[in-house]
Amino acid sequence: MTDCDLCGRGIPTVIPVRAIRPLLKFAYPEGVWKGLCEPCLDSAQKTYLTVNKNQTSCRKGKCALCGDKTGVFPVELQIPNFSKGVIKKDADLCYRCLKSVDEAYIRYKKEQIEQDHEQGRIHGHEHVHPHH
Ligand SMILES: [Zn+2]
Ligand SMILES: [Zn+2]
Repeated sequence: MTDCDLCGRGIPTVIPVRAIRPLLKFAYPEGVWKGLCEPCLDSAQKTYLTVNKNQTSCRKGKCALCGDKTGVFPVELQIPNFSKGVIKKDADLCYRCLKSVDEAYIRYKKEQIEQDHEQGRIHGHEHVHPHH
């Protein structure tokens, strides 16, 4: 069991997202790996697309992933809550991290498609093909 680095949800596997923090570049030239759950990844990727499309202006803040104090953009999180079910909260992410999220998102979706294909191949004989 791991926790999502954004919403804190405990899930079996998180999706790895690379966060590069300039200040730590010497210690971690490859950046540090953070783990996000699927809803957070989806939400952050949505923010990334909106920012790119609308040229949204950032505000000053602290990035929730890399911890850098820079221009950040709000990402809507859905945090599981015992009494209320789900509560919505915004997390601030810098553009660099949003870009990493986008890369992770594409990689993740590609893997899912490949897995589906794999499954389809294994169970392919079970499918009934309609006659033309
Ligand atoms: Zn999450
Ligand atoms: Zn960041």
